[in-house]
Amino acid sequence: MEMAEFRTELHRWLDAHADELEPAFSPPGTLDEQIAQMQRVKAILFEADWIRYGWPERVGGLGGSPMLRTELGAALAARDLADPGLFSLIEVLAPTLIDFAPAELAAEVVPRLLSGAEIWCQGFSEPGTGSDLASLTCRAEPEGDATWVINGQKVWTSLAQYSDRCVLLTRTGPVDARHRGITAFFVDMDTPGVSVAPLEMINGQHEFAEVFFDNVAVPADRMLGDLHGGWAVAMSILPYERSSCFWQRIAYLYRRLEKLVEVAPDDDRAAEVIGNAFVQLHALRARSRVTQHRLADGQALGAETSIDKVLVATAEHATYDAARRLLPGVVEMDDSATGAAWRSEYLYSRAATIYGGTAEVQRNIIARRLLDLGSDE
Ligand SMILES: Cc1cc2nc3c(=O)[nH]c(=O)nc-3n(C[C@H](O)[C@H](O)[C@H](O)COP(=O)(O)OP(=O)(O)OC[C@H]3O[C@@H](n4cnc5c(N)ncnc54)[C@H](O)[C@@H]3O)c2cc1C
Repeated sequence: MEMAEFRTELHRWLDAHADELEPAFSPPGTLDEQIAQMQRVKAILFEADWIRYGWPERVGGLGGSPMLRTELGAALAARDLADPGLFSLIEVLAPTLIDFAPAELAAEVVPRLLSGAEIWCQGFSEPGTGSDLASLTCRAEPEGDATWVINGQKVWTSLAQYSDRCVLLTRTGPVDARHRGITAFFVDMDTPGVSVAPLEMINGQHEFAEVFFDNVAVPADRMLGDLHGGWAVAMSILPYERSSCFWQRIAYLYRRLEKLVEVAPDDDRAAEVIGNAFVQLHALRARSRVTQHRLADGQALGAETSIDKVLVATAEHATYDAARRLLPGVVEMDDSATGAAWRSEYLYSRAATIYGGTAEVQRNIIARRLLDLGSDE
């Protein structure tokens, strides 16, 4: 289906099914409520085929441009039907399975992710390993030909306590082999030896967790990509994490700005503050649109997506800084449902300069690799 037709038909269908799709809770809702809403919406969209567009037929999709699924994510975010941060985990993890898992495994599990039957998580960061991912130490050792045994710890793993599976990076070579000694596995979270300890975030939600692996036996056919080829798996996520995921986030931020305009004072100061946030958001949208089209045209995305990452964090801060300035005391003290929603989102917005690569590290990449302003040494 072409984009224009998809967009028209999708919005017509979303209008017609608005009551069925609407969350049963007032925002912000608990994380349990948000997850249940997302999975329910995914199930309805799968049944009605909408969430199958843009995914390959060999994994239960209906084919077409990946931009179709991006458009769906943005439509859901703009209508507050699914949290874009939670929903975009599909976009981060499903392509990994499609590109690196054995074909039968991808065909079995991707439809389960799309249809809301499962949640998956991304086990990359460790207590001593965030920005410097190549130093990770969670170890996988072979046991015979058919099994790998995993020992170690991950941290900040979003939705681990809700997840059925984990795309996990492990150390299979010496630590000083850095990115050449890493292998990815697709691990069932109910395997004996996996334990999850949720962590509380600044907004009170337990969205991420520590995950411990204690002699966890994983079948060899759950290896994603090649032995010691985990870096390629990790890097393959980047084009999606920095394109389609951002498009959903942008739609969500526009919606927040609209909500702010509805309640902000009608004066020059408010116009300036909102105007500033709008300019940041619009610059991000223009940049992200180019990135989406490059991806859809089959171009390789690389270091230049660090610019998109800096812009998304800047726009997110600007949007919620505007809310804090124009709604005095609301973010800090208002305990009504509306106040709690602004507070929760304001606090979460501070994470935008951390997740998916910190702002400092992105600026280093822009300086060194795009502007040629000196090496890492
Ligand atoms: C909401 C949220 C969700 C997340 N979800 C996941 C997830 O699902 N899975 C997962 O694996 N991880 C997840 N993360 C973790 C995230 O990827 C890491 O927090 C991030 O990569 C930074 O790593 P770190 O926290 O170890 O910080 P560090 O790398 O220790 O950095 C600490 C500080 O030092 C700065 N710094 C580090 N290196 C340099 C350098 N070379 N030059 C200049 N400054 C530097 C950083 O910018 C930062 O300010 C999540 C994080 C957040 C906030």
